[in-house]
Amino acid sequence: MTSQAREREAVLEVQHLKKYFPVTGSIGRIGGVKGEVKAVNNVSLNLYPGETYGLVGESGSGKSTTGRTILRLTEPTDGKVIYNNQNIFELSQKELKSVRRDMQMVFQDPFSSLNPRIRIGKALEEPLTIHSIGRKIERQDRVFEILDKVGMRAEHYYRYPHEFSGGQRQRLGLARALISNPKILICDEPVSALDVSIQSQVINLLQQLQDEFNLTYLFITHDISVVHHISDRIGVMYLGEIVEEAPTESLFASPLHPYTQGLLSAVPGKHRTQARERIVLKGEIPSPLDPPTGCMFHTRCPFATDRCKVEIPQKKEISPGHVVACHLYDE
Ligand code: SF4
Repeated sequence: MTSQAREREAVLEVQHLKKYFPVTGSIGRIGGVKGEVKAVNNVSLNLYPGETYGLVGESGSGKSTTGRTILRLTEPTDGKVIYNNQNIFELSQKELKSVRRDMQMVFQDPFSSLNPRIRIGKALEEPLTIHSIGRKIERQDRVFEILDKVGMRAEHYYRYPHEFSGGQRQRLGLARALISNPKILICDEPVSALDVSIQSQVINLLQQLQDEFNLTYLFITHDISVVHHISDRIGVMYLGEIVEEAPTESLFASPLHPYTQGLLSAVPGKHRTQARERIVLKGEIPSPLDPPTGCMFHTRCPFATDRCKVEIPQKKEISPGHVVACHLYDE
């Protein structure tokens, strides 16, 4: 437990989360399970009320699977997610339904799940209908209210999904997530598909909505600049594990893990100069089907020693809330 965790009460606790996917194929003449992909491996993090926790890492680091598993959009292999003093992994589907009202997901492409033949107003009403919230007229009023909150007009209620631009679609994705008045939003690359100017509008909107509704965000992205702008705290993921976690300013002022240093120094502009020295990330992230032994990062780390190849580094708190898993900080 970090010093910060001891001082505040979390709204959501993720404890030792694991999500392994079986890999099937032929073994000799018969089919069977060949192995498993450890997409998420022992991830623990806390979300505190009203904060934004940024989860950052390269493609394939397990960020999105972490978000989806927390919400049980995919079932976990092991671990706990504690919300309102209950482990949501132990809830029945009926009990899970009421928890889902409080926790919603915002996707990169929110319209991929929408029926193109249903008007947007009806699509936004759907979560209220599923959760039996309000009478029909009240549900309609709520849709008009939330359209206004995300900067859309009342007339948009009657339009179809294909009639909206990328930025408008993401506003509507937010509206759909907010319609049931949740407490926590898990945002999975919500601005990655947008132009830079539209990105900043959507990020500003996310921050306004957070202030207005005291929302807590888990913000998943591969983009260091975006995560710097929006996050209060950041977790850096590599091959299914969080290798460094820190308050945003602490992480950018003194990144400790060589992987974090590599991520920061790869970004042009101010983040590069804040990294202690230029560290070039060589090669691709290894396959999670056959991950490296010892420290997962040793195959790409310029400071790797023989010890790193065999011994898994344990997490250590170096300064308040700044935790790193690397043998360089053992002394
Ligand atoms: Fe590099 Fe070793 Fe630290 Fe891993 S434990 S990041 S290989 S120095």
